[in-house]
Amino acid sequence: LARQFGVNRSTIVTALGQLTALGLIEGKRGGGTIVVIPKSVDSRSQAGNWNDYVEEGVHYPNLPTIQAINRLEYERGLIRLGTGELAPELLPSAMMQSILADLSQQTHLPLSYEEPLGSLQLRTAISHQLSKIGISATPASILITSGSLQGLQLIALGLLPRGSTILLEKPSYLYSIHSFQSAGVKFSGLPMDERGVLTESITPEVQQTAAAMLYSIPTFHNPTGILMDARRRQELMAVTSSLGLPILEDAAYQELWLDNPPPLPLKALDNEGRVLYLGTLSKSASPGLRIGWVVGPEPVVRRLADIKMQSDYGASSLSQLTAAKWLESGYHELHCNSLRQELRKRRTVVLDILHAYFTDLASWNHPAGGFYIWLSLHKPLPLPQLFKKALQAGLLLNTGDLYDRRDGRHLRLSYAYAPLSELEAGLITLSAVLKEQIK
Ligand code: PMP
Repeated sequence: LARQFGVNRSTIVTALGQLTALGLIEGKRGGGTIVVIPKSVDSRSQAGNWNDYVEEGVHYPNLPTIQAINRLEYERGLIRLGTGELAPELLPSAMMQSILADLSQQTHLPLSYEEPLGSLQLRTAISHQLSKIGISATPASILITSGSLQGLQLIALGLLPRGSTILLEKPSYLYSIHSFQSAGVKFSGLPMDERGVLTESITPEVQQTAAAMLYSIPTFHNPTGILMDARRRQELMAVTSSLGLPILEDAAYQELWLDNPPPLPLKALDNEGRVLYLGTLSKSASPGLRIGWVVGPEPVVRRLADIKMQSDYGASSLSQLTAAKWLESGYHELHCNSLRQELRKRRTVVLDILHAYFTDLASWNHPAGGFYIWLSLHKPLPLPQLFKKALQAGLLLNTGDLYDRRDGRHLRLSYAYAPLSELEAGLITLSAVLKEQIK
């Protein structure tokens, strides 16, 4: 096949793996391989000339398995064991209703565009929030974005030279990687241990790779759940300072500590203006509001704001007002406190089940916050096949191969999404599927 189509053999192996994961391949002993194309996939005939365009633009497409997960998440009856989002019942519906009821009484609603950096009222509220975690940021050094993913994209497009390299933890947040790659930026993975990224891996040689920035999720890392401790944070600041390397700190899970408040953010340790900080309301209060923020030196946030103006004229002004009122009202702290209680309960249930059913199969970390447990299988498995088998058993998984094609050992489990009863039943089913696969 490789010779016939003039492509690399590994490209074909990867494609077959992904088709298998999607359940699109039927293998018959001695009868070759049949690719089954369901009607919804066989859209080429209806697409006219667009076939020559689809996937040709500069932005990378998601891996087919991620596209499938994004669709399957909206199908009923599947237990979502890896979803990186709060369950609907953990979102602050009643408190938000009360904010919206107050807003509906307001005589003037903000129905216009906002200024380039975003609503001053919201930036002021965020500045106040940040001061509580040791970050002093004036409203002029804050840019409101439509979720923090957009902050990542603006940074990739506006600050990083094409062909440069971004250093990041291996594994890292999936969508960050495509944001960087689509902007023509390469990436290089840094190893981690249970205290965070290994600072000794950031050597002066990285400068030869045109390293432009280091992207880190120090607090309840996605996908591993690791919390970088205070000493490692100090070391990271020192090493990157000696190399003059800027840091992009992604603090999406900052508020979701379950045992103790996390060590100070890198941004709070930064006295050189070298750290850009990304925050969001998505993981604590509402992903649907689409409100995130970038904190950095004024010329940097103004550059990003200018690109944002050119791409969407700003985040929704109604969402910005809602978010400002939400933070000003004090509901945010109240909600985060009860959310922590609920997440603690879920974490305990999941860890207990892992202990009871997975001890022979895997090892795992005990996260101090966030959503995730990173399961390490004792024996490697073909993870695309595991994904498919689990799907047939009614489970939707986030397998490690989505983060690193060659990974055959890891699963990202989340205790934040599925209801408790489903988490229990789903994990017990998963242990049975794993046993079957390992046989
Ligand atoms: N950063 C990390 C580490 C995340 O896990 C996510 C959401 N999965 C985001 C950023 C983006 O979230 P949002 O755009 O909703 O703020």
